[in-house]
Amino acid sequence: MASIRELHEQLIKKERSAVEITQEALDRIQALEPKLHSFLHVTAQQALEQARAVDAKIAAGEEIGILAGIPIGIKDNLCTKGIPTTCASQILKNFVPPYESTVTQKLLDSGAVMVGKTNLDEFAMGGSTENSAYYTTANPWDLSRVPGGSSGGSAAAVAADECVVAIGSDTGGSIRQPASFCGVVGMKPTYGLVSRYGLVAFASSLDQIGPFGRSVEDTAILLSAIAGHDPKDSTSLKVPIPDYAAGLKPDLKARGRLRIGVIKETFGEGLDSVVEQTVTKAIDQLQSLGAEIHIISCPRFRYGVPSYYIIAPSEASANLARYDGVKYGYRAPDADNLLSMYTRTRSTGFGTEVKRRIMIGTYALSAGYYDAYYLKAQKVRTLIKQDFEKAFEQVDVLACPTVPTTAFKTGEKNTDPLSMYLLDLMTIPVNLAGLPGLSVPCGFDDNGLPIGLQLIGKVLREDQLFQVAYAYEQSTTWHLRQPQIS
Ligand code: GLN
Repeated sequence: MASIRELHEQLIKKERSAVEITQEALDRIQALEPKLHSFLHVTAQQALEQARAVDAKIAAGEEIGILAGIPIGIKDNLCTKGIPTTCASQILKNFVPPYESTVTQKLLDSGAVMVGKTNLDEFAMGGSTENSAYYTTANPWDLSRVPGGSSGGSAAAVAADECVVAIGSDTGGSIRQPASFCGVVGMKPTYGLVSRYGLVAFASSLDQIGPFGRSVEDTAILLSAIAGHDPKDSTSLKVPIPDYAAGLKPDLKARGRLRIGVIKETFGEGLDSVVEQTVTKAIDQLQSLGAEIHIISCPRFRYGVPSYYIIAPSEASANLARYDGVKYGYRAPDADNLLSMYTRTRSTGFGTEVKRRIMIGTYALSAGYYDAYYLKAQKVRTLIKQDFEKAFEQVDVLACPTVPTTAFKTGEKNTDPLSMYLLDLMTIPVNLAGLPGLSVPCGFDDNGLPIGLQLIGKVLREDQLFQVAYAYEQSTTWHLRQPQIS
């Protein structure tokens, strides 16, 4: 499928209708889903209805917005009124939200056409979609491999052209990591830029919703549409939202001098050599485009994983207390009293990884351990933030690999949660500090698997990240390669 801008042109010139574009996406979904499983629910009826409404507007001579008639996938942890929202969990199997999340409401208002709800790791906990209670999504570049996670369905759907763009959420890397594994662009915005109202909470101080696209421009257009202050989210920032796509220039220095800091600690042990070489080349490319390259040290970066895996499960243990069989979704049928109803509902409704995190979080927050674990982790979080603040005194943007490896085989890391947690090494610190981060395709390994370059920005400097990523993308051809799915 074409880019958002191309499709928009076709629509307003009446070369194609929104129904035709939507049907093309639905046909592709139908053809590919038996192999990919990117979606948990396909919303064909609603999508065609939305597309017809866009066509009616065009026929009536009304102006349409840039996203009108554009097929989009939505991660299944965003509440969509009247449409199942399962979080890929058994516990929300039959949950149909009575309300709309702010982000999906904004998209509805923009005329974007939701083609379905995408697969994820249960409650967004994981990095491969293997923790989905329903099925695992395949990587479009190699069906025997994972697409990454937790927003693996969204990344795979975009890479496979089942939709033009998609929405994901990122608590410790869940947009950037699958973007890297699937060869698409993914952005985690500054904490508070996008409303979390209606996003099923995992770790509230870290969760952010963000866009996926096959190009930097598509991703930028989508972020402008979903960002903005929302009184329904108390952590939502009151800031003006720029048109991120409007100012994009192929000239890297279009906005003046640009200093890029390469995070020293992200290179070396544990990093696949092909990822190291590829990302190094990408940084050389940025230099040849005119960026000044500086080597920067963030010594506390490596404590991100241990502190995240205390903070995120702690918040999750509190957030997931609401699934008790009374208010939402699944209730164990065979309980004989209230307590056994709670325990049976939660024992059978949650999967292994979710239960592991609830237990870790409950333990870390309990009296006697709180200071040793939770409080300590919060202090480390502050130190990591300080590392970034210091780095940003010297440079404008930071660069490093998005993930230390390319996509791994389905099942390869299933039995070893720690090896899975370590994949988040380079994405987690960005969430802990609340900063914006973006992954842009920067090459392929010998097996033809995509590799991502991560760019990290100052608070609310998404514009700068998009600009750097755009100039880089326009000077390469990586984004033009497409997976051949057979
Ligand atoms: N992989 C990380 C985890 O399992 C990140 C998840 C996320 O960003 N939602 O927690």
